[in-house]
Amino acid sequence: MTDVYGIFGWPVGHSRSPAMHNAAFAALGLDAVYVPFAVQPDKLADAVRAVRALGLRGVNVTLPHKTHVMALLDQVESDARAIGAVNTLYLDGERLCGTNTDAEGLARALREGGVALTDARVTVLGAGGAARASVVGLARAGARTITVAARRLGEAQALVASLAPHLTSTTLSACAHEPAALHAAFAHTDLLVQATSATLDGGPPADAFAASLPLPALPSSAVVTDLVYRPLQTAVLGRAQAQKLKTVDGLGMLLHQGALAFERWTGKPAPIAVMRRALNG
Ligand code: NDP
Repeated sequence: MTDVYGIFGWPVGHSRSPAMHNAAFAALGLDAVYVPFAVQPDKLADAVRAVRALGLRGVNVTLPHKTHVMALLDQVESDARAIGAVNTLYLDGERLCGTNTDAEGLARALREGGVALTDARVTVLGAGGAARASVVGLARAGARTITVAARRLGEAQALVASLAPHLTSTTLSACAHEPAALHAAFAHTDLLVQATSATLDGGPPADAFAASLPLPALPSSAVVTDLVYRPLQTAVLGRAQAQKLKTVDGLGMLLHQGALAFERWTGKPAPIAVMRRALNG
């Protein structure tokens, strides 16, 4: 019988996950299919019950369900609980469990791009879900310090206060997203993670956001990554490249969060090259 996997989101039509996972199933000769499920917010509990009722083998969860789904599961892994978001559901025997593969997905993507994470000094822009996952992923990967910069300083401080007890090997701090504070942070940054939605869809607002960043304060050896992958070449990456800094785009994180979910579900190494081609296609 064909194994059914899927993604719950609202809307979900834009998701590239079906193409990525179906290509992986085909490449490995697995009798499986990955389906997008448009799940309205007030139908999430029904959809989660259906995972068991229909025998779905694994499910990704995307906006707006990543936080709400946690209360509907038998178990949520501790890092996912700390991040406050689950993006992957899997069955452990009868127990429906949730994990977050975004955090490790980012670390894998950066390592694949040749970025050294052990002992790195990191600055993360933004204090939303992607920033939280980045902080956890990079701390677990061995970052020495992580500074979180947000336009609402209180949000950055709250993020640091809630994650610091879980990430005791890394020094976390918060700073305001304003020129002097950013300048001071950038001067001691090996890796800059753009985790706001400000560069999404490009255009003048994205250009203005990129222009407001004091990128020249970064060391010449610094790496800049932007988690936004629509467009792939963001305004921030463009400015960093003009300054001859190494850059990593956001597609690798999308790829590796999917690969980690695939491996969790199937127990097989994900066919990374095939999945990347499907994402690019
Ligand atoms: P959230 O909505 O949770 O958070 C967005 C953050 O960006 C908030 O801190 C917000 O600040 C900040 N922000 C938005 N506009 C600006 C601006 N002009 N200046 C400064 N800060 C700004 O979104 P997510 O964290 O879930 O996602 C952020 C981006 O990361 C998304 O655009 C998404 O495309 C990308 N992403 C990529 C992934 C990948 O696999 N590559 C995975 C997940 C996300 P405030 O609260 O003040 O509005």
